Amino acid sequence: MDPVIIVGAGPVGLCLALSLTRRGVPVVVLDESDGQDEIRPARTAVLRQDTAAALARLGCGDTLASEGTRWTAWRTMRRRRLVDRVAFASRIPDDAAPVALDSPLHLPQHALTRALRAALAQEKLAQIATGSRLAELEQDEHGVSAHTRGSNGTWWRGSYLVGCDGPRSTVRKLLEIRFPGRTAVERHAVAALRTELPWPGEALLHRSPGRHGGGSGTSTGFGGPVGEVSARPLPDGVWRLDWLLPPGRELVTPDALVARVRESLAGWAADAGEESGRGAALPVPPYALLDTGVHTVHHRLAKTWRRGRAFLAGDAAHLLGALGTQGLDEGLRDAGNLAWKLGLAWHHGGSETLLDSYQAERRDAVAARLRATDQALPLLRDGRAVRWRTVLPGVARGQSALLTDGHLGRGPLGAPPSYPRTPLATPTGQPGTVAVGTRPGAPVADVPVTAGDGSVVRLRDRLGHGLLVVLVAPGTGVWDRRHWQSAGLMPQLTAAAEALPMPAEILVTESYPGAPAHTVLVVRPDGHLVTAHSGVRPAELSACADAVRGGGGFAYGDGAGYGRRAWGAGAAGGSGSSSGELGGSGGAGALGALGGAGSSGPTGSSGAAGTSGAAEAAGASGGPGDSAACHDGGGDDGGNGGAERAAARGEGAGARGEGPGDPRPAGAAVDPLVAPVFHSEGD
Ligand SMILES: Cc1cc2nc3c(=O)[nH]c(=O)nc-3n(C[C@H](O)[C@H](O)[C@H](O)COP(=O)(O)OP(=O)(O)OC[C@H]3O[C@@H](n4cnc5c(N)ncnc54)[C@H](O)[C@@H]3O)c2cc1C
Repeated sequence: MDPVIIVGAGPVGLCLALSLTRRGVPVVVLDESDGQDEIRPARTAVLRQDTAAALARLGCGDTLASEGTRWTAWRTMRRRRLVDRVAFASRIPDDAAPVALDSPLHLPQHALTRALRAALAQEKLAQIATGSRLAELEQDEHGVSAHTRGSNGTWWRGSYLVGCDGPRSTVRKLLEIRFPGRTAVERHAVAALRTELPWPGEALLHRSPGRHGGGSGTSTGFGGPVGEVSARPLPDGVWRLDWLLPPGRELVTPDALVARVRESLAGWAADAGEESGRGAALPVPPYALLDTGVHTVHHRLAKTWRRGRAFLAGDAAHLLGALGTQGLDEGLRDAGNLAWKLGLAWHHGGSETLLDSYQAERRDAVAARLRATDQALPLLRDGRAVRWRTVLPGVARGQSALLTDGHLGRGPLGAPPSYPRTPLATPTGQPGTVAVGTRPGAPVADVPVTAGDGSVVRLRDRLGHGLLVVLVAPGTGVWDRRHWQSAGLMPQLTAAAEALPMPAEILVTESYPGAPAHTVLVVRPDGHLVTAHSGVRPAELSACADAVRGGGGFAYGDGAGYGRRAWGAGAAGGSGSSSGELGGSGGAGALGALGGAGSSGPTGSSGAAGTSGAAEAAGASGGPGDSAACHDGGGDDGGNGGAERAAARGEGAGARGEGPGDPRPAGAAVDPLVAPVFHSEGD
C-alpha cells in the first residue's frame, strides 16, 4: 500500500506524520519550505493538558518540559483591581521545584515544530521532502497522485493525502473547497520580552478601558474602546504580551509598540505596589524585546474536510483564535483524530463511515467553538457589563469569567470537545450500558490505571494505539497483580478483548467518576469514551469495537504496526468466574458502586489562552511568514485555483464530497451547526 502523503510540515502536518508512523503507516511529508524552523519567540501556543499529553506520547515530552511553561495561576484584572485568580494545583516532585499540574502548557511554536521534526527524523517510515511545493492533485479509486514543483519536482503516489498546508492551503484550493468565514475578527499586537513581572509564573489578563492598551486613541493603532492586554510566561524569564487592537487595519509602528510595553510594565508595577499594601509603585522592571508582530485572527471553516481520499487538517481546515481560543490546539486535535482512523484504514481498509467520521466529529467541534466565540464576541468587546449564562441552567457568569474560560480551556470557548453525534457511536439501547461521569463521545477522565505489566500509570499515557478497555475494580490497588490478574472478571474480559475486531489493551482502575464497581469503560485511541457496560459483555464489547472502526467491511488481520497489547489469556488463567467479583477476601468488588450514574459534561482538563489564526506582518518586526498568512487567511473564501484544471482532467472534484459550493457570498458567517451556546440573561 502506498504511503500517506501529508502536505505541509507545520506543527499539524508533523504531528500527523509522527502519529501515523507510530501506527506503522509510512508517510511522505511534502513541504515547500527549506525545513528550517523560523525562530519566532512571539509565536507561541497554549496547549490544553490532553493535547500536551498526546505530544508527550509522541516523544516531545522533554521539549515540552524544558521549553514550555505551566503557569502557577491565572489572574484577571480590571483597571487596578484583581477580579479573579485561578490557582493551579501543584505538587513537589522529589527534588525539584513545584510543578503546576492542571495548568495549560505554553510554549513557542518553533520549539514544538523542532521537537516533532526531530522525532520524525528517527522514523524509518517517514520521508520528508523539503523544497517541494504541491501544485497538482489527482485521485482515483486506489490512491492519490500529487505533483510538486521545486527541487523535488516530481509526481508522488499515496494511498491518502492530507492537506496540512496552512491558511492558504493549496490542497483546499485544488479540491475546490470553499473557506467561508469572517476576516480580522480580532487583531493583537504581540511581543516577546525578557523581563520580571510582579507575579512570577502567573499569567494575567488585564482589561482596562483607556489604559494598558486602551491608549489615547491616537493614530498609533493602539487606541480603542476596550483596552485588553494579556501577559503569559514562558521559561527563562520570557513573557508573551498581547494587546487587543481596535478594529481596522491601522499599522502598528515600532514606537507605538515600545510605548505600550513601557506603559503596561509601569501600570503593573503600580498595581503590584498597591496590591502589596505599600501604596508606592514598584520600580518599572528593565526588559529586552525579543520579537514583535501583529496577530490577526480570522474565523473560517472549510465547507468540507474530506474529498475522497484527501483530507484537510489544521489551519487549512479552520481558522479561529479570538477570546483565547487556540487554533493550533484544535489543529493538533485534528491530527490525533485522523491518525488512528487513517491507521486503521491503511492497515485494514477503511469504511466510509470511519473516514467520514473525521469531518463529522472535528468539523462539528470546531464549528461549535467558532459559534460560541462569535456569540460571545460582540457582547464582550463592546464593554457592556452584561452577565451571561450558558445553556447549563442557573450558571451565570461575568464577562471576565467567560474570558478566563476561553483562555484556560474551559466551557464552550475552550474545553476539550465532545463528539456526541459521532457516526462511530454504539447502537443506542445496548443491554448493560451504564451511565458514568463522562458522556459517550466526551474525553475520559485521566484516572490512574494499572497496566498489564503491573505498572501504575495515567490513563492518558496508554492512549494512542488501539481501544482501551478499562475495568473499574475498587480494592485492586492493594493486591499483588499476580493474584487478581487471573481472578474475577479478568479472564472473561481478557478473552473478550482478544476476540475484538480491533486491537485493545485492558487496564484496571480503582475508581472512575460516577462509575459503579465492575463497570467496563471502552475508550477510543484519542481518549473519547465509546460507552460503559456493567460487567463483561463480550457481544456488546464486540459490537462496540465494530462501531468504533466504522462498522463491518474490513477485518482486524495481522495487526501490522499495532502490537496487540491486551493481557495474554494465559496469564489470566481462566478461572471461569462469572460472579462479577474479583475474588479474595476484602478484595475488589467489596466496595460496591461508587454512586451516581448521572452524567456530566466533558471531564477534560484545563487549558488555553491566546490567539490564533493567520497572522499579519507587524510594523515592528513581524516576519514575512506572518505577512503571507495574513493576506491569505484574510482574503476571500479560499479561491478555486484548481477548478479549471480539475475540469480539464474530467474529474468530479466533488464526486465523493458535498455538492455544489455554498451559494452564500464569500465572507458570510460560519454556518450554524449547533444550537446557540450563550444567551444574555435578558433573552
Ligand atoms: C505571531 C503569531 C502568533 C500566534 N499565536 C498563536 C497562539 O497563541 N495560539 C495558537 O493556537 N495559534 C497561534 N498562531 C497561529 C498558529 O501559528 C497556527 O495556527 C499554526 O501554525 C497552524 O499550524 P498548521 O500546521 O496547520 O499550519 P502552518 O504552521 O501554517 O504550516 C503549513 C505548512 O505547509 C507548508 N505549505 C504551504 N503550502 C504548501 C504547498 N503548496 N506545498 C507544500 N507545502 C506547503 C508551509 O511551508 C508550512 O510548513 C500564531 C501565529 C502567529 C503568526
